[in-house]
Amino acid sequence: MPHELPKSYEPGAIETRWAEYWIKEKLFSVPTPPEGETRPVFMMMLPPPNVTGRLHMGHMLNQTQMDIIARWHRMRGFITLWLPGTDHASIATQMMVERELVKEGKKRRDLGREKFIERVWEWKKLYGGAILDQMKRLGVSVDWDREYFTMDENLSRAVREVFVRLYEDGLIYRGKYIVNWCPRCGTAISDLEVKHEDIAGKLWEIRYPVVGTGEFITVATTRPETMLGDTAVAVNEKDERYTHLRGKHVMLPLMNREIPIITDELAQPEFGTGAVKVTPSHDANDFEAGKRHNLPQIDVMDEHAHMNQNAGAYAGLDRYEARQRVLADLQQQGFLVGEKDYALALSKCERCGTVVEPRLSPQWFVKIKPLAEHAIEVVENGEITIAPENFKQMYLNWMYNIHDWCISRQLWWGHRIPAWHCQNCSEVIVAREEPSQCSCGGKLEQDPDVLDTWFSSGFLPFTALGWPEKTRDQEVFYPTTLLVTAYEILFLWVSRMIMTGCYFMKDHKQDPAIKEASGWGDKKDDSVPFRQVYIHALVRDADRQKMSKTKGNVIDPLEIIDRFGTDATRFTLAAMAAPGTDIAFSESRTDGYRAFANKIWNAARFMFMNVDRVEPGLRPGDGRGVRPSTTPLEDRWILSRFNRVTAEVNDALATYRFHEAANRIYDFFWGEFCDWYLELLKPRLNFEEGADNGTARIACANLVNLFDASLRLLHPVMPFITEEIWQAMYEGNPPLKSIALAGYPQADETQFDLAAETEMAILQDLIVNVRNVRAELKVEPKVKVPIEVFAPEPGIRAMIEQNRGAVERLANVEKIAFADGSLAKQAGARSTARFDVHVVYERKIDAAAERERLKKELEKLEKEFASNQRQLSNEQFLAKAPQKVVEGLRRREQELIGLRVKIKSQLDELG
Ligand SMILES: [Zn+2]
Ligand SMILES: [Zn+2]
Repeated sequence: MPHELPKSYEPGAIETRWAEYWIKEKLFSVPTPPEGETRPVFMMMLPPPNVTGRLHMGHMLNQTQMDIIARWHRMRGFITLWLPGTDHASIATQMMVERELVKEGKKRRDLGREKFIERVWEWKKLYGGAILDQMKRLGVSVDWDREYFTMDENLSRAVREVFVRLYEDGLIYRGKYIVNWCPRCGTAISDLEVKHEDIAGKLWEIRYPVVGTGEFITVATTRPETMLGDTAVAVNEKDERYTHLRGKHVMLPLMNREIPIITDELAQPEFGTGAVKVTPSHDANDFEAGKRHNLPQIDVMDEHAHMNQNAGAYAGLDRYEARQRVLADLQQQGFLVGEKDYALALSKCERCGTVVEPRLSPQWFVKIKPLAEHAIEVVENGEITIAPENFKQMYLNWMYNIHDWCISRQLWWGHRIPAWHCQNCSEVIVAREEPSQCSCGGKLEQDPDVLDTWFSSGFLPFTALGWPEKTRDQEVFYPTTLLVTAYEILFLWVSRMIMTGCYFMKDHKQDPAIKEASGWGDKKDDSVPFRQVYIHALVRDADRQKMSKTKGNVIDPLEIIDRFGTDATRFTLAAMAAPGTDIAFSESRTDGYRAFANKIWNAARFMFMNVDRVEPGLRPGDGRGVRPSTTPLEDRWILSRFNRVTAEVNDALATYRFHEAANRIYDFFWGEFCDWYLELLKPRLNFEEGADNGTARIACANLVNLFDASLRLLHPVMPFITEEIWQAMYEGNPPLKSIALAGYPQADETQFDLAAETEMAILQDLIVNVRNVRAELKVEPKVKVPIEVFAPEPGIRAMIEQNRGAVERLANVEKIAFADGSLAKQAGARSTARFDVHVVYERKIDAAAERERLKKELEKLEKEFASNQRQLSNEQFLAKAPQKVVEGLRRREQELIGLRVKIKSQLDELG
């Protein structure tokens, strides 16, 4: 049986079936385009989710938006490559496996490095693909044949190559620096992996005796235990309170060590006593001051934040125990002179929540300034665009003030640093392959650290395309077209890809024919990793609260999908994604979009019932509709509307206004197509045995063509239901394997018909007004009533006469009488700018209720009038607004004035 759709729409089964079909048929796999290819290319990297990840609303939004853009390009004839992969996420994955070990009563050191890494690989094999399986349910149109993992052999080789080249170019160095250290994870973490928590802390004041004077200098600190590592006290040069003490020393309490008084900008006269302790091993600013003055660095803690042998009597204590003991001893010895409440922002490890300790340790760094210069330039000069616009400035501010990038991590899981330390001399050898021995003959050992995860993902746009080899894929797909990502990783990831892309791909040229065809002919720089960046919003809960586990308001996208379907969930995220505003996700909206899918489903069933009655041969055409000279109003109108909406949707998608695209399609498909057009069309679908039935066939063709085109318009947002119905339209024998490969509708301006749109608007207005009056008069639904209409303009009267059948049917009207004068002053009547209508019905109406209604209407009118006046008196607006808009407002002004007179006279009439 052709055109069979089940009675009720059940998204679950449909979605699973098509998701599997798309993968099985390799619909989104893109072989390397050969030389001479001239089609445009669209290329996008999926921000690789962590292998430890579980699909959350952020992914769901991100991937929905990317999928919409990818499908839209594919349907418009672009060679569309969307490249998926997963990230090894060194710290997150290592923690996951360590937690498993804890359950077995073991620590990673019990296993040793090699065994531990084996264990992580096993874990990855078992669980690392979970997030990709979840993505498959979303229907994402990625090329699964090109899926990568950031620790694949070829990507690992590329990472080593990058490291060695940067080292050889003098852009990687090893040095002792103050880093954020997590004592729990036992590793350095970047500034971006630290979260800050405001707490009510304490500020302690300690006085240090000045040697040989009997005076004291008072300093303040929030971490008194670090005083054990002080190597100076600093005062400001301009601070006259301390001029006489310059060049002298203080005796460090508890340690009995003499340390100098230095002058340095570290000390601010207006802050506290104007004197500060200097602890180069435990504070980043002090570290810099220490370098300026050649101060010794005394590290008083070990990697677990326990005091070490440099802490004298406090050695072995945990940092907080030591703090209490130090305070008690200072108090007892008369050095503690104050304790104040103090609000401070505590730095914690993003992964495990442990308080971070600034720690001096040997690390590997990337010298960033030389890389940043070009990366700033390409954004400033528009070679890369960042939208929304405000993120461009954020990016630039970050880049102007960027610090060297600490790339080493004291972890086991990840890309191990390709550097070998001689155990005999101090030689460090950086190499692509393991060297056999040092030139001194000494034994070599590889650096124990691994690289920051972002170090490898920061090169993906070119390493995932085969770098360091020069590949055809790079010629075609680099620069990638678009990156869609979250604000959170603008600095962690986006900025680094720009820096490394510009550096390593500086001699790269994209295939000129493809570049031109893809619309990038005016761009000069082909080293950039992408041409455009789009930063998406956050998904919050329905009350606009940020989702968090502690608040218990996390919405699981898979649960929403189970209840409403993927299509409805995708549609919600698209329809609510106004740029620059976060999405307050509400299930009631998703429920509404499930109803939208249902509406389309039922409309399809209606279509199939009718098309089945037409002889074979009538098949979906090009969506442009059949237009003989006598085309009825509803056909001219719907074709005009379809093409106008098509123009708006294409325009919205080109600038990432997803909400606009989704809402235009929704209003058109549900409101105009299903609610009006199908209803208007029904009488023309009457086939008679043995008759010519030409009209009915044209009506059917229009219906099928427009339905097909509307499905294609909707497909990027709701890929599953559109595929299901589209395939059914072809009775399982479609011209293409999928609607995803069919053409995306493009506006045909010759179909724009302003007259038809205006006329239909009046007709709809008339029908709606009659329906409303009927409801107010409480006319039984089955009862047909006569109406009187007064339309002063002859053209409008003629139009209503021509379409009287539609009015009678859709407003349940028995007979239309045309009056020669205004009908306004009576009950059951309505006035609009173009017509008056009176529903002739006996029932006495409630004068009070009618008065109330008219008052409300008047109020509404006054509001519109006021806003209209505001706009018309706003000179800035008038200067900028298109002529047509201003003319429209002026026309409306006149209409409103006329309406006001009518309503007021109706009110007078009621007394
Ligand atoms: Zn940690
Ligand atoms: Zn050596």
